[in-house]
Amino acid sequence: MAASNWRVAIIGAGPAGFYAAEHLLSSSDPEVCVDMFDRLPTPWGLVRAGVAPDHPKIKSVSRQFEEIAGHERYRFFGNIEFGRDVTREELLSRYDAVLYSVGTRSERKLGIPGEALPGSMAAADFVGWYNGHPDQARLAPDLSGTHAVIIGNGNVALDVARILLLPHERLRKTDIADHALSALENSNIRHVTILGRRGPAQAAFTTPELREITSIEGVDVEIDGAPLTPPDDLAGADLKRAQRNLSVLEKALTAATGSEHKLSLKFLRSPLEIQGSDRVEKLIAGVNQITVDGDRIVATDTGGRETLPADLVVRAVGYRGTALPGVPFDSGAGIIPNERGVVTGGTREYVAGWIKRGPSGIIGTNRGDAVETADCLLGALANAAPLGTSPDGIRDWLAEKCPDMVDQSDWARINAHETRSGEAADRPRVKIVRVDDMLAVAHGAPQ
Ligand code: NAP
Repeated sequence: MAASNWRVAIIGAGPAGFYAAEHLLSSSDPEVCVDMFDRLPTPWGLVRAGVAPDHPKIKSVSRQFEEIAGHERYRFFGNIEFGRDVTREELLSRYDAVLYSVGTRSERKLGIPGEALPGSMAAADFVGWYNGHPDQARLAPDLSGTHAVIIGNGNVALDVARILLLPHERLRKTDIADHALSALENSNIRHVTILGRRGPAQAAFTTPELREITSIEGVDVEIDGAPLTPPDDLAGADLKRAQRNLSVLEKALTAATGSEHKLSLKFLRSPLEIQGSDRVEKLIAGVNQITVDGDRIVATDTGGRETLPADLVVRAVGYRGTALPGVPFDSGAGIIPNERGVVTGGTREYVAGWIKRGPSGIIGTNRGDAVETADCLLGALANAAPLGTSPDGIRDWLAEKCPDMVDQSDWARINAHETRSGEAADRPRVKIVRVDDMLAVAHGAPQ
């Protein structure tokens, strides 16, 4: 049996999938071939559809992904959806192992009245819209009002607020989707409020991102609801992070210019209800106080209420995993249950990234996470005989089942087309946002 007869299917071509592929391909014993699947014709997951367009440095990790994709034992099969186009059983009968790195596709809900009113949306959708994800290309958020309220104190809330507040000249040089660029150019949003249910010392923001949003030129910063002093019970890394963030907030306050563009950071406020006759008009917030519950610092309602004008409400309160057909799922935690990446109750199945550990951490956090999974996988392969499936046989089977599938050279055509379109406008790329248009470029004549 040839040494490289082990074949691994990776489902989901985002950062965790690529880091897992890199580690698997670096092994010489056992030597592994990797086929990476994605439901979209494009790879890179959140690096393409999640990372904010004005963060090109974070996006530059895609160059590493392309290097990994250049490996002779790597293949890409895009525009193939697990569970719809190919089933778990079909893959398990052809691959020695299947690794899921599908991320956490849906969003957490607030569970408050008015959440479903037009004008109220999940950050997952808003982010997908400005990043040109085909699922959200038609979202068309109404930006004709002046007030936006973003709920949540994490980096996604900061991304959404920044995109709404950044001067248009800054966005024009990015790979933001064209439909978002023109909608934001005509946006009337002038006042963005970020609502945190706990205090500034408990916010999940990272300091560089907080510094960035509080120093956008022409945007005044207001801070409301809580003192900018660290609580007595913080210690160690938590205290250091809180001190750094509080110092950024203090500096932001001293720089008010009277601009019509405002960012309000309101702490100790929980969303209780979104109101409006046929679309969002206002948000009722409960005024909280911080209390200590065992080793947790929690927000409790004081009974006070505040009404905020809101023409757009975006909830950025975290993402949530969804179950894959036939694959074990912990619906409480929203993840695939696992031990060090080995799926609990699975059959030669592994998991990496947000669907393994939950939606937290930056892109690079997925490397260690994926390496842990890939090591467990390699250890299992080393003790098993390969199924010995033919790679050409797999390709022929897929080509017959999914005639519109996109392979690495098809994706390379999409990639080249987008970057070439970007060159003329001095942008990194102009994204194609409809799957049909992607397929037309992918399967068009070689360029
Ligand atoms: P996150 O960091 O977990 O923040 C979620 C926020 O939502 C928290 O402030 C949380 O408050 C709040 N929240 C949850 N439920 C709520 C409720 N019912 N009412 C009000 N507030 C509620 O999640 P994220 O912002 O989605 O980010 C996900 C991960 O991606 C994070 O690790 C983040 O750092 C990372 N990320 C990084 C970057 C970057 O590096 N530039 C950009 C985007 C995202 P509590 O703390 O009180 O629970």
